[in-house]
Amino acid sequence: MIGLTGPAADRWIRRAAALVSADAGELTRLDAAIGDGDHGHNLDRGFAAAVAALPADAPAGRVLIAAGRALVAKTGGASGPLYGTMLRRAGRVLDDCDDPDAADLGAALRAALDGVRELGRAEEGDKTMVDALAPAVAAYAAALDGGAPLPGAARAAADAAAAGADATVPMQARKGRASYLGERSVGHLDPGAASTALVLRALAETLEG
Ligand code: ADP
Ligand code: MG
Ligand code: MG
Repeated sequence: MIGLTGPAADRWIRRAAALVSADAGELTRLDAAIGDGDHGHNLDRGFAAAVAALPADAPAGRVLIAAGRALVAKTGGASGPLYGTMLRRAGRVLDDCDDPDAADLGAALRAALDGVRELGRAEEGDKTMVDALAPAVAAYAAALDGGAPLPGAARAAADAAAAGADATVPMQARKGRASYLGERSVGHLDPGAASTALVLRALAETLEG
């Protein structure tokens, strides 16, 4: 089964950048409630840099590695290294495959999650981007196991990420700036989970064509 091609990876990063840019104000508003009000601005800057760094005619692995490097270099705040790690780890898995298929993309997404967990030391329930990414990785694998084609699996991942982000509202933050608020972080959507859901929506929309 066909996997993530180089041109599709390129379109994914461009679409993620466009969605982040369109929602930058909202992401910043979410971060103003439980953080320092810069998440939309940070990511808009980071994804613009990722788009600018996209290599021409490269396979998917190289595309994601280049985007991840740019994100680490150009995104302020905690989210830059976390997003950069996410994309670089995913890229490395795909880069090691001759002809990455849909299962390889699943392995890449899992590696992305593992990288974010290792770097940020957050678990599910800590009210972070992990709460969107972890259910997305699981939903992708389950959809593929159930016989879904690549776009269907990506859609399942995007829907799970959106639901996972929504589920951060009643959580108390245990990682990142929002954790400084203690119980006052309850009742707000985590900005990083919201942006992670956008990035997975961009993947689904890209693969759905
Ligand atoms: P900063 O908090 O440095 O201003 P951003 O506002 O860009 O950075 O990003 C905040 C988001 O980063 C949070 O909403 C959360 O989802 C995510 N985040 C923060 N710390 C961690 C962590 N240790 N592990 C995973 N995600 C984290
Ligand atoms: Mg912030
Ligand atoms: Mg900040």
